[in-house]
Amino acid sequence: MTAVSDCLFCKIVAEEIPADVVAADEHTVAFRDISPQAPTHVLVIPREHHVDAASLASSTDGGVDALVRTAKRVAEAEGLGNGYRLVFNTGQDGGQTVFHVHLHLLGGRPMAWPPG
Ligand code: C5P
Repeated sequence: MTAVSDCLFCKIVAEEIPADVVAADEHTVAFRDISPQAPTHVLVIPREHHVDAASLASSTDGGVDALVRTAKRVAEAEGLGNGYRLVFNTGQDGGQTVFHVHLHLLGGRPMAWPPG
């Protein structure tokens, strides 16, 4: 799917609004969350607009793999050798507020379970 005109994260991909980008490649962009919930909190998004992880996984480009690979690269660059958490909030009850799929990369402190 092409960019959606009123999508915040499509605008970040298009560099129409600023973001603190920490990694980018052909398929993905990774930038720091504006409201970090851990010492490292980075969002990894596909350049293509997809509403959620299931939609992305159903697409022909199979972009979920690309998101995870970019997250791994960022985690290594951030020194998260002790581990980190990857999260797809999906839908209203999943806590999703931005409907351009994004993989949360959280690290730099021990993570509790269950999450809130
Ligand atoms: O999973 P969810 O949809 O709730 O996550 C959206 C995330 O996008 C939030 O963590 C929020 O802080 C972040 N965000 C951002 N930059 C914006 C708007 C939202 O990093 N301009």
